[in-house]
Amino acid sequence: ASIADDGNEVRTTLAGGREIVADLAIVGIGAVPVAGLAAEAGLTIDNGIAVDAELRSCDPDIFAAGDCCSFPLAVYGGRRVRLEAWRNAQEQGALAARNMLGAGEAHAAVPWFWSDQYGLSLQIAGLSDEGKNTVRRDLGDGAFILFHLAEDGRLVAASGIGPGNAVARDIRLAEMLIAKRAKPAPEALGSPDVKLKSLLAA
Ligand SMILES: Cc1cc2nc3c(=O)[nH]c(=O)nc-3n(C[C@H](O)[C@H](O)[C@H](O)COP(=O)(O)OP(=O)(O)OC[C@H]3O[C@@H](n4cnc5c(N)ncnc54)[C@H](O)[C@@H]3O)c2cc1C
Repeated sequence: ASIADDGNEVRTTLAGGREIVADLAIVGIGAVPVAGLAAEAGLTIDNGIAVDAELRSCDPDIFAAGDCCSFPLAVYGGRRVRLEAWRNAQEQGALAARNMLGAGEAHAAVPWFWSDQYGLSLQIAGLSDEGKNTVRRDLGDGAFILFHLAEDGRLVAASGIGPGNAVARDIRLAEMLIAKRAKPAPEALGSPDVKLKSLLAA
């Protein structure tokens, strides 16, 4: 396989010999944390700098926060994850600072991701790969939310997309339901007539 850009077009040749010609190629190759310095310092590396729930590395005097660290996520039974999202980096920075000062607080936030793509806003609360079933709620104006449910019916993630702020409020409520480890009825999640706030009270 090969990829060649002559300035006018991008010509991609697949391993099977097929050629694809395009104006532009966007290459999504993922991201890896640069953890060499931490490894040289003797810190445990496990998909980034491995920290505990208080963001402390295996050296009790060294903390890590944000994209560079993996940590146990309480809301998913302590599953070790590394997140690449600004709110997590911001919250963990503050949490690490508090814990350096002796607060002893465990990380408890539900992952939340946001991105604006042209006229659309994408928001995701939770980790959708924890889900087995999906329920869709249409919000009108092309906006919709996919609720991801675990096998036992627990809400584990919600992915929403729509113009402007269309999905923001419901994703915020979904985040609270996820934090509560709620098991809302799929019919209620799928019906725009049922207010998500009423499910929180249940
Ligand atoms: C193209 C792109 C688009 C993104 N879009 C979104 C989005 O839409 N929504 C969202 O939530 N998140 C998004 N993110 C992710 C978000 O930017 C990151 O999660 C966030 O910036 C992580 O913050 P951080 O402080 O952990 O790390 P960083 O922002 O990477 O900061 C780490 C800093 O440490 C510095 N550094 C590294 N090594 C050393 C060293 N040895 N000595 C001194 N300094 C060092 C680096 O130069 C850098 O300034 C995006 C990221 C990228 C790359």
